[in-house]
Amino acid sequence: MEKITSFRDEYRFLSNFFQYPFVFKGLQYPNAEAAFQAQKCTNDEDKIKYTQVKNPVRAKQMGKKEPGLRKDWDLISVNIMLEIERAKFAVPELGEMLLSTGDAYLEEGNHWHDNRWGHCTCDKCKNKTAQNLLGNILMQVRTELSEAKENEQQKRT
Ligand SMILES: [Zn+2]
Repeated sequence: MEKITSFRDEYRFLSNFFQYPFVFKGLQYPNAEAAFQAQKCTNDEDKIKYTQVKNPVRAKQMGKKEPGLRKDWDLISVNIMLEIERAKFAVPELGEMLLSTGDAYLEEGNHWHDNRWGHCTCDKCKNKTAQNLLGNILMQVRTELSEAKENEQQKRT
């Protein structure tokens, strides 16, 4: 099976840092990272500031300092990420790009020790088991898109 283990270059669009505006719960964000970090805020006014943060690194830093962070964040964040990726890849062009990865295994290889959302390949982490949560979510969304497309085609015939 083909494996995509780096969300860079031609696969940059799989990264949450990829710049492509989309609407999530009524607000347009410049990238998925900004949309995700905004969900750490409990009220809409605070979320709105993230719609202006074009730099995903900055959005991540802001999210770390979000004072209203919910106690159950670790638990709910996986489902929030799923909803965000669904919204991102509902943009037709992005959806087609995701589908073009076929049935390749998706995993965000990294060197910043993230074995929760991705898989760090540094010497210290290489023997750790990675949860690959983002990759799993992307593969799930891809399956959903593919099934929706099949249903559409069946309706037409
Ligand atoms: Zn590491």
